[in-house]
Amino acid sequence: NRSSMERYSLHKVIGEGSFGRALLVRCKSTQEKYVVKEIQLPKNQSKLESSRREAVLLSRMKHPNIVAFREAFEADDLLCIVMEYCSGGDLLQRIRQQKTAQFCVDDILRWFAQMCAAAKYIHDKRVLHRDLKSKNIFLTDNGTIKLGDFGSACILNSSKAYAHTYVGTPYYVAPEIWDNKPYNNKSDVWSLGCVLYELCTLRHPASETEERGRRPARWNREEGMKVADLLGEKSLIKTSTFEGVESPEACCESREPG
Ligand code: ADP
Ligand code: MG
Repeated sequence: NRSSMERYSLHKVIGEGSFGRALLVRCKSTQEKYVVKEIQLPKNQSKLESSRREAVLLSRMKHPNIVAFREAFEADDLLCIVMEYCSGGDLLQRIRQQKTAQFCVDDILRWFAQMCAAAKYIHDKRVLHRDLKSKNIFLTDNGTIKLGDFGSACILNSSKAYAHTYVGTPYYVAPEIWDNKPYNNKSDVWSLGCVLYELCTLRHPASETEERGRRPARWNREEGMKVADLLGEKSLIKTSTFEGVESPEACCESREPG
């Protein structure tokens, strides 16, 4: 309802995605800063459920390296998720600021250990993030990692279940997903590996292989890179009309492998 948003005053827009905006706000009663992620709610009932999934999943995650959930409410056709503000911005911004000088090994290891702790926590709850990338990993003012953006996440029915829907961001997507094969939490681990590479080299592993003219044998890289060039950092689930992709509303489905 309207009164929920009236408890906050808008400071500025800090992120704009295909689904809506991320706003920096201040709580009028406590003066604390928060981020409100606004998501345009679809009219279609089944799509509506998948939009609400992000708020539900985030509300269940309580970990020092996962962005803290405060509340969620719906106002008109917007879903608003209120969460902790990570004033250090996202890791992609941080990498781009770095230009040529490398990060020091201590920072890389500290950040990576925190990402792994967050991933371990969600995987123990059988949640797959499915869009792990530097743009979805945030930093606080004291340099703590906070995993965010559960907009592509899903939950598996059992510890042996696999997901099938094609989602993710091309640069970070594991080969089994390119191959349209069932996947599980290991595909998130691949994406974390890509982030580690990015932290060490300040570039994507994919762009590196491109330059050297090497072609990984197993995956359909040509197709993949076409999409990567097109979308860059953008997530596929939000824009995809890619062949063989299931609709986003099916993304919670999981099956035991045949
Ligand atoms: P989208 O689904 O559009 O990718 P995100 O949740 O990833 O939405 O938010 C988009 C961008 O907004 C992020 O990449 C980040 O730069 C910024 N952002 C989002 N949430 C926060 C937050 N809690 N603290 C700081 N920045 C944030
Ligand atoms: Mg994002």
